[in-house]
Amino acid sequence: MTRAIVIGAGIGGLALAIRLRSAGLDTLLVEARDRPGGRAYVFEKDGFTFDAGPTVITDPACLSQLWELSGQRLDRDVDLVPISPFYRLSWPDGSTFDYSNDKAALARQIAALDPADVAGYERFLGYSASVYEEGYVKLGAVPFLDFRSMLKATPALLRHRAWRSVYKTVASHVRSEKLREALSFHTLFVGGNPMATSSIYALIHKLEQDGGVWYARGGTNQLVAGMAALFERLGGTLRLGDPVARIETEGDRVAGISTQSGFTARADLLASNADLMHSYRDLLAHPRGESEAKRLARKSWSPSLFVLHFGVRGRFPDIPHHMILFGPRYRGLLDDIYTHGTLADDFSLYLHHPSATDPGVAPAGHSSFYALAPVPHLGHAPLDWEVEGPKLAKRIVAEIERRLIPDLGERIVTQFHYAPPDFEQDLAAHLGSAFSLTPSLLQSAYFRGHNRDARIANLYFTGAGTHPGAGIPGVVASAKATASLILDDLGVRTGTP
Ligand SMILES: Cc1cc2nc3c(=O)[nH]c(=O)nc-3n(C[C@H](O)[C@H](O)[C@H](O)COP(=O)(O)OP(=O)(O)OC[C@H]3O[C@@H](n4cnc5c(N)ncnc54)[C@H](O)[C@@H]3O)c2cc1C
Repeated sequence: MTRAIVIGAGIGGLALAIRLRSAGLDTLLVEARDRPGGRAYVFEKDGFTFDAGPTVITDPACLSQLWELSGQRLDRDVDLVPISPFYRLSWPDGSTFDYSNDKAALARQIAALDPADVAGYERFLGYSASVYEEGYVKLGAVPFLDFRSMLKATPALLRHRAWRSVYKTVASHVRSEKLREALSFHTLFVGGNPMATSSIYALIHKLEQDGGVWYARGGTNQLVAGMAALFERLGGTLRLGDPVARIETEGDRVAGISTQSGFTARADLLASNADLMHSYRDLLAHPRGESEAKRLARKSWSPSLFVLHFGVRGRFPDIPHHMILFGPRYRGLLDDIYTHGTLADDFSLYLHHPSATDPGVAPAGHSSFYALAPVPHLGHAPLDWEVEGPKLAKRIVAEIERRLIPDLGERIVTQFHYAPPDFEQDLAAHLGSAFSLTPSLLQSAYFRGHNRDARIANLYFTGAGTHPGAGIPGVVASAKATASLILDDLGVRTGTP
């Protein structure tokens, strides 16, 4: 039986391991940490469950497919619950906008901002539907291995004026600045600056409108646990808590791995879900490792994040599951994060409040939250986070007190934060980047990490650094692209989703 090794049990690594095992390959999944999930790790503290990373689940169909490969159903392992509104957007002047796929409610709120924008929004939705079809449905799970594949996609890119940013595209359809922010902030969820990320990423709007926004009961960690359970039920082997130290090669082929504990395993093929730079620079025992690492060092890496987790006494039925608290500046703040490498005094926050939907993630009578602020990565701003972290945490608590929970400080019973050095140390993330390479046009598709190495023919990649990019649907699609490539290379035909 063909022996495949997958390094890293992030959502992309799990999805790929499930696909390979479903196709009958002997599959070993090796994860450095004590639990699977990667960015979707979980912290359990003082009776609270805190998801470390992704909380907004979109395109549940791409997840169901992983179970359908072996004739199973996702709901055997995961209970997905729809969330509405998707997000409540809030501005410093106290105004709010409930963003959802309730068309009438959306039209009402848009008209209140600017009546002319109702028609503009409809036109934007048409644009978003069109890029969704081209960029996600048709090309989302296609491995872009050669320039020819990029040329084939070029007419669609030109037609959609993909060189324009998401913000610029939105601004060409609607006039209200608040609506422009509401329709463009989504690229931040995949590490992209709305002011610079290609308008192709406007497809996220259509993805959410059609597929909704979902929550896995118990937290995203339950989606991860379900994926791991499915993989093991299929007969795959999951090895936790043992970082891979070397990808061994013989000539221009991968031969196997050795881990920090001294464990070794041979492989017919290997796929890395670990950070691209880490895989090439630190793991690959082949001259190609060094040359690719040099190339990757010149690329643009997405920012990091500061995530403040807090468990609170009391319940807050008026605070919805997801909120965006915009700060006083939009473009200026994005410039500080992406270009100037400045930790600004102001910030925009994404506030996650899972106990609004699922009281089980906090002790009785308590609530669980995280507040997330994008911050420059360690290459742009090599700050001392031992000093900056507690200060930023204090400012975030003060802002939430000002805007939502006046006595928050007194109610907090447990609190900790996750800062750029944690991404670097725990996840081997280059520069502490939270989303790998930035999703610019010049780092997308053929220009992103390839799903198969150009020289080492049995070395593959999956996850945020590869096409189509970060985010749960992105890394699940990348696993699909990589699996199809592997199975094609092996001459295996599956005919499954
Ligand atoms: C705070 C935060 C919030 C987010 N919110 C959302 C959201 O709401 N919705 C959404 O869709 N996306 C969200 N994202 C993005 C999304 O979580 C990621 O893009 C996605 O989970 C990355 O998956 P991945 O497959 O690339 O693997 P990763 O999660 O990067 O996992 C890689 C794995 O490789 C392992 N590894 C590394 N080196 C080694 C080694 N040497 N040996 C063995 N294993 C190794 C790591 O430990 C890790 O488990 C968020 C991200 C963050 C950080």
